[in-house]
Amino acid sequence: MRIAIGQLWQESNTFNPVPTTRSDFEPLGIYFGDELVSKLADVNELGGFIHSVRSWPEMPQLVGLARFGAWPGGPATPETIAAILHDFVAALEKALPVEGIYLALHGAMVADGMPDVEGELLGRVRTIVGPTVPIVASLDLHANVTQRMVAGAEALVLYHTAPHIDVFETGQRAAKVLRRLVVDKVRPQTAFVKLPLVVPAERANTQDPASVSFGFREFLQRAEADPEVICAGLATVQPWLDIPELGSAVVVTATHRGKATALCRELAEAVWQRRRDYLPELVDLAEAVRLAHEQSDGLIVLGDAADATNSGSTGEGTAILAELVKYAWPRPALTTMVAPYAVAEAAHRGVGARYTARLGGVREQRYSRPLTLEVEVVRLFDARFTLTGHIGRNMPINMGPSVVLRHGNVYLLATTHSGPQFAPAFFQCAGFDPFAASLVVAKSPCGFRAAYQDRARRIMMVRSPGCAPSEFWRHPYARIPRPLWPWDEGLSWSAAPA
Ligand SMILES: [Zn+2]
Repeated sequence: MRIAIGQLWQESNTFNPVPTTRSDFEPLGIYFGDELVSKLADVNELGGFIHSVRSWPEMPQLVGLARFGAWPGGPATPETIAAILHDFVAALEKALPVEGIYLALHGAMVADGMPDVEGELLGRVRTIVGPTVPIVASLDLHANVTQRMVAGAEALVLYHTAPHIDVFETGQRAAKVLRRLVVDKVRPQTAFVKLPLVVPAERANTQDPASVSFGFREFLQRAEADPEVICAGLATVQPWLDIPELGSAVVVTATHRGKATALCRELAEAVWQRRRDYLPELVDLAEAVRLAHEQSDGLIVLGDAADATNSGSTGEGTAILAELVKYAWPRPALTTMVAPYAVAEAAHRGVGARYTARLGGVREQRYSRPLTLEVEVVRLFDARFTLTGHIGRNMPINMGPSVVLRHGNVYLLATTHSGPQFAPAFFQCAGFDPFAASLVVAKSPCGFRAAYQDRARRIMMVRSPGCAPSEFWRHPYARIPRPLWPWDEGLSWSAAPA
């Protein structure tokens, strides 16, 4: 028995003007064939899948197709996506025959001229293998699930958690699903409801009993414990996609249609009823920094959703940095920036150099305002570490050559590539203990809570400029379907699964 596996993973953000090209996939590793299987045997969804399949009594042979993973960012260029899809198709044609396929996808990847990359990939794979080879795909909870994705796979297995601490387990669930299709020959029936609804991520913490998302995670996990249910998922799409089919979705696959449809309708109705519970509480930037400075004992974390690299923003924002340097902090105040030009200049001048740096407004000019700041080069480092927590399990991260710049007790960690700039392991890699700091800026809307919720004295979500604003409905969208909540606040709706 041969099972083919592959990964295409990026969350795109159409407000980020910096296009994603093939070189953006290189830091996380482009792999094919056996190298894919060996490099990712313990990593994220593919790791969970590989672990599970190796315990099957049938002992299937795993055939690596292609793995392309890039940190969230702007849409891919047409040439980039054409080459990636070509590589997947070529790898699959070489791998045939196979009896099942697992693809670890994000579900919110967009290319210029191609708003549904995953739907396109699944469609091409289906064309090659025909209607009888089961295809299972896993998706991020922030996927934009489309009709084409549902049609292209026998089952879509979604993360159940945000922060995403179940990436490995999602791969294990995908293996269980594929085994039911390939070995047990179960005939899956999928119900799919698209909700005219996009919700902010800030309060959607599935691990917090006070959050609206907590009960939805419990609902999904209870549903999947039913032997008649193959998989059940809720995708509250990430909002920064100006594309025609934007919207949240519930997708349930079961052994009979009635079960799938009933669960799908029940959850979709519940999400719609609770939609206002997702609206975030934000603190104005200057006020948040002032309040943080007042509480100088313990760690204050400022969640910077708008410039979240996790949400596909550039990570080049300077607004919080500009506010932080107005204060004297008793212990380090740590913030981050994706600024290859700043890294190059600091590396050129060397450790100990003091100079006037010009930061921001280079990669992106709309939200990132240039800031002129007196700095000292404290450290040069290579931002390579292993991410375990939100988004990753044993995930090798490479944010490239990086520097620590100091202004008073404010430390700016500037990197060459984007990455998980919220991660404690990133700050540790730069020589800091983030939990001993006065303040940490986490460029993440919610996922950072997995690491900081229990250890921070206070967490505030700040209203700041960036490509991934919390109050996204106040920003111009041209292509989204209307009516759509919260743009159309008075919209009434009820579920009717397709
Ligand atoms: Zn996500």
